[in-house]
Amino acid sequence: MTEPAADDVVRFAERVLFLLGRAATTTTYKYAVLLGLVDVCIEQVAEDGAAPDVITTRQLAEKVTWLYFRHAERFAEGRVLRQNRRGQARILQEIVSYREARGMPGWHRARREDPEGFARLVDEVEWYLIRNPLPRLQLVGGRSIDLLYRIGWGPEETSEAPRRSDVRAYQRGEASAFDNRILLFPGVGEALVRLAGILRPVVERQWASMVARINDLPEADLERFLFAPARETAAAVRGPLWDLQEGRCFYCGGDLRRRTCQIDHFIPFARHPDDGIANLVLAHGRCNGAKRDFLAARRHVERWRMRTWDAGGRPTKALAYVAREAGRELDLDLAPATLATARAIYLHLPPGIHLWRGPSRDAFEVFEEDHREAFARVLVS
Ligand SMILES: [Zn+2]
Repeated sequence: MTEPAADDVVRFAERVLFLLGRAATTTTYKYAVLLGLVDVCIEQVAEDGAAPDVITTRQLAEKVTWLYFRHAERFAEGRVLRQNRRGQARILQEIVSYREARGMPGWHRARREDPEGFARLVDEVEWYLIRNPLPRLQLVGGRSIDLLYRIGWGPEETSEAPRRSDVRAYQRGEASAFDNRILLFPGVGEALVRLAGILRPVVERQWASMVARINDLPEADLERFLFAPARETAAAVRGPLWDLQEGRCFYCGGDLRRRTCQIDHFIPFARHPDDGIANLVLAHGRCNGAKRDFLAARRHVERWRMRTWDAGGRPTKALAYVAREAGRELDLDLAPATLATARAIYLHLPPGIHLWRGPSRDAFEVFEEDHREAFARVLVS
């Protein structure tokens, strides 16, 4: 894989933030599209950690649906927050209608229990992305800034929008004139993967701040509402994880108590929002609290890898047990993306980064260049 020079990456990050600041949009779509691109790139890295240079509108639509899914809930028992200066953002409105009509299922449940309806929802989100935010994200003052991607169905902003019938045919898997590719400019996938840990909190903050302005609310409570893990994650996996870890903390190996142990996102949720079962472990509250949003050290990564995926990168029997017991078997097809995420993060770390070893708050190991190969061996499938 080719690593862009540090100066180029900094310049790229500055230009992304400029684009977000200036993009001609009255909605929060620009943030969703950018975070969606980042997430798809991370989850699609190759075995050697190389980022993709082409992704599809479908992959992006799935991520954008995920990002907005929580936002369709009522804020503080009040109303659904608006994400458009004029009325509601269409994508969010679609998701609100979908969830309200079905008793507010979480993302995982909707996907599991209503696969056809959920696929139709993603179809709609994909169509809106194609129509509006994707062609517009890079427009500043009527001019296109070619920073991130070129869209497969037309390189020029003047080119005709795809027809609904073509997109529908493509979504049904029929022959179609619609080209669903989002072609990333050279180095963009790599830069997004490397910058993810830095861009995400900045973009989330800006997103929360725009929602606060539109709804005339204080910003403080919003970030948590918009970006913390959904509640559906926790309860059902606790018991099977307990069995799997034989009642011991994933990090320190000490005995857990049922009432106080916590479910930890192995790859910190703040770093990459993955609440699939592959990313969940059970830990002491104090170990979880000591780890905070740091990445875990190699010894933990090795055990997590062994627990979660077999040598070929397929979910282990242990993970399949957790999925089955938790009634989340469909989660198993998300497990390869979690392994790719681990590769995307660990194989791109710059030297000098602190990885949490625990169990105390101050116990870190420093990632050095010559550790990369060992991580690559652990994370290959
Ligand atoms: Zn512990």
